[in-house]
Order: sequence, then structure tokens, then C-alpha cells
Amino acid sequence: MSNNLNSPSSLNSLEVCPKQAQLRRRIERESLSFHQLLYRGVEFGVQSESDDPGKAASDEVLRLCWSRPIETEQSDLLGMAEHVAALAELIVWCLRTGPAWKHPDPLALGSEIWHPACWSIPGGLRRVALVDHWSDRRALQEARDWQTLEGALYGLPVTILAVVLGPMRNGRRHGPLTKGWLHPRNGELRFQKRDGSGFDGNWESVWRESYDGSREDWIEAMNEDGLMAETFVVHSAIEFDARESEKVREVALSKLAQVAASGIEATRNLSRCFDAVRACEYRFPCAYLQEPTELNGFVNISRPGAPPHFAR
Ligand code: SF4
Repeated sequence: MSNNLNSPSSLNSLEVCPKQAQLRRRIERESLSFHQLLYRGVEFGVQSESDDPGKAASDEVLRLCWSRPIETEQSDLLGMAEHVAALAELIVWCLRTGPAWKHPDPLALGSEIWHPACWSIPGGLRRVALVDHWSDRRALQEARDWQTLEGALYGLPVTILAVVLGPMRNGRRHGPLTKGWLHPRNGELRFQKRDGSGFDGNWESVWRESYDGSREDWIEAMNEDGLMAETFVVHSAIEFDARESEKVREVALSKLAQVAASGIEATRNLSRCFDAVRACEYRFPCAYLQEPTELNGFVNISRPGAPPHFAR
């Protein structure tokens, strides 16, 4: 039977755990993590028709913070909300240089309908990867993510836009998009010295959400410190020839059939529940062989979930 939840996240999840792929098609945790908030804000902003899509992204993050429980160890929930909202605004303001982004049309794949996560650009697709750092190894990993492989299903090259957020510490991202340094006398905003080293002594750290200047001032200061190219990394387009496209399509069809056939009794890969990099969002109670439901902290969903690889 066709459904509307086949997407890159379905297949990425299947490769972690068949049970996760099943759950991701119909249910998600009611509480939202930092990563989910940021992703949803950015996604909302890039496709917003608002005159100020960056502000739309920020407003969406704040709306979500008031409407859903937030999953954080921080007691300062308002501070976290403002931090994520400011980050989403800056990312969207930099990415959305033209009209609202649109997804390509869903694709018939065998008896299933594929709902894309990529965005259309002339002659291809693009996707955004929000990452703590970027490296050759990370580039290889992202190139084999199903959000990139869906380019083979469409027969189109995929450009990856990697936005480097910096590491997460104490509930906040520590990178140029979120944190700068103010000169002790003239208040100039800087991020790093010409030799790439940081600041110490009397320089005062400042979070983006607490900075008195505008987002234009912030980005200009990042630009002057030579940080834009390493914060917004454009990976050269990944192309798929006819043979690769056919092979990827075969793999996708096979995996979608596996997801469709497994049903609620899908196999649990229990060793993945508490993965050190990304613990599964269903681990309580699924890791203890109970079913996640609306009675134990989950809500039904009607659209594909956020890519599970997002922003780590
Ligand atoms: S909690 Fe474990 S068994 Fe359940 S979906 Fe997640 S990884 Fe699979």
C-alpha cells in the first residue's frame, strides 16, 4: 500500500534499526531537542514567503518552544529558546538570498510515493547539512546519506550546503554563528585573530542573542575574520550516472518494501538504542520492549520526520 511517509529519513532509520524506521513513519517524541528545533526553524524559514525569512525562522523556533516540551538538561529554557532562535535566523538570513525554496514533486517509486527532503535548484537539487564540523570524512558520510542519494532517484546532481555550527557545550553551540568576542575598549566584534587563534585577557565573550548590533553587523564581522567560507561550506555537486542511478533505485525499492512489509513487529536492533553519538529518540520505552504511544510521551505525525542525522 502506498503511504506518504517514504523519505530519506525512512531509509536512514532503517539502516540503524528496522523498528526505528517503522516508528518514524507514524510517531515522534512530543518533546523537541535542540537539533529538532533548529532544523524545523531553518526548514520553515527557507520556504517562507515572508519578507524576512530569517525572522520567520526565529519566530517558528519560539512558537515551537511555547507549544511543545523541550528536551534539554538546561534549566534556562528561555535562554535556550533565544539561542536556537537567533541561530536559525542567522542561518536562514544567509541561505535565503532569493525566492522561497521548494521541494521537487513527490516521486512514484514502485508502489510507493517518495517524499523528497532536498530542495530544487536549476538543473539539480540541494540539501542543507547542519553539522558541528566539516571534514573529508564527514563529506563522504553525507554523500552516502539518503538525503543525498535521492538525487539518484530524481536523476539530478545534489549540492550539499554544510553549515558548521561548532561543538555543543552546556546546551549551546560554540561557533562563529553563535559566539563572538568584544574588544575591551572599542567594543569591536571579532571571532579569531589573523593567525586563527582566539582571544583572551579582557576580551568579553558575547552570544549572538545578547549582541546589541544587527545580524548584518555580525555577518560582516565574520566575513572580515575570513570565516564565511568555512562556516557555509558548499560541497561540489554529487552526480549519479545512469548505472549508479539504477543501482540506487534498486536498493531504495528493496528497502522500502522491507519497511512496508515489517509492520509494528519490525525487528528491534537493541544494541543501537543508546548509541553514543545519537541515542534513539524511541529508547524510552522501546529499548525495554514496550511500544511508544501517545500515553508515554509521543505524538502521531502525518509527514516525514526530520532527517535523523541532523546537526550532530
Ligand atoms: S529504541 Fe532501540 S529498538 Fe527501539 S527503535 Fe530505537 S534503536 Fe530500535
